[in-house]
Amino acid sequence: MIRVALPNKGRLSEDLKALFDDAGLPIRGRSERSLTAPFGDGAYEALFVRAADIPEFVADGAADVGITGEDLVQESSRTLATLLDLGIGRCRLALAASVDSGWQSAADVPNGSRIATCFPRLTRRFFEQVGRQVTLVPMSGAAEIAPRLGIADLICDLVSTGSTLRVNGLRELDTVLESSARLVARQEAAGLDAVKELALALSSVLRARDQRYLMANVPKARLAEVRERLPGLNGPTLSEVLGGSTFVAMHAVVPAQQVFRTVADLQALGCQGILVTRIERLVP
Ligand code: AMP
Repeated sequence: MIRVALPNKGRLSEDLKALFDDAGLPIRGRSERSLTAPFGDGAYEALFVRAADIPEFVADGAADVGITGEDLVQESSRTLATLLDLGIGRCRLALAASVDSGWQSAADVPNGSRIATCFPRLTRRFFEQVGRQVTLVPMSGAAEIAPRLGIADLICDLVSTGSTLRVNGLRELDTVLESSARLVARQEAAGLDAVKELALALSSVLRARDQRYLMANVPKARLAEVRERLPGLNGPTLSEVLGGSTFVAMHAVVPAQQVFRTVADLQALGCQGILVTRIERLVP
């Protein structure tokens, strides 16, 4: 059985629940108190823990694989194999200072400045690269409040929309790290079939979310023009329409954000019966 460490709360935890459902691997039977739940016909066991503990748990062998933010993987400084960038939970670890500090970037920050952060390793490494001697003020949350309390001059914290910084009168100076959720494994677990199958299931759902399946009846005389307007993955696939000598049925996969344009183009070229559907999983 493969043990999969997952965040026990927060937005990422909710998003992962939906992702595992869509991948045909629903995780059921988890009560408020229970830390574990079997799934995938008993091939896997979910272990619900703090997102920050996941890199350690995987590295130490308490779990075989885990899903957590790249920020936490990097901060842990443990050696793990990254199997998949899920592209969800996107954020950046950023350096920020009071809007009236006058500093434009990390290079303007004077030696001796105090930086409040929940990411001391990454912050230290960043300032070593910039060549500044700073004092770290380790926090376990809500670093944004530190400058107003007078316990730090800057913060290094996660930013998503930037609204928390604005509310606290702070401005971003530099990005330390771009982050999103990653599927990580211990080196020894990375090659196991059940681990590879999990990565494939999740990636196929994520890939499918950005694509649409498009079907249309295309006038044979316009096939070449239709082909030019299809940015599709493969194909398109063509098949005969029973009793229809002037039309062929076409199937194609198109990026979701291009569906609007493609449908309008196909209709202008005389296509009929245009149908667009979601795709559940896509394995190229
Ligand atoms: P925002 O106001 O949208 O920029 O969000 C910033 C606040 O949300 C900060 O308190 C961050 O620590 C937290 N945050 C934003 N994105 C993430 C993330 N992907 N993972 C964990 N915390 C986050």
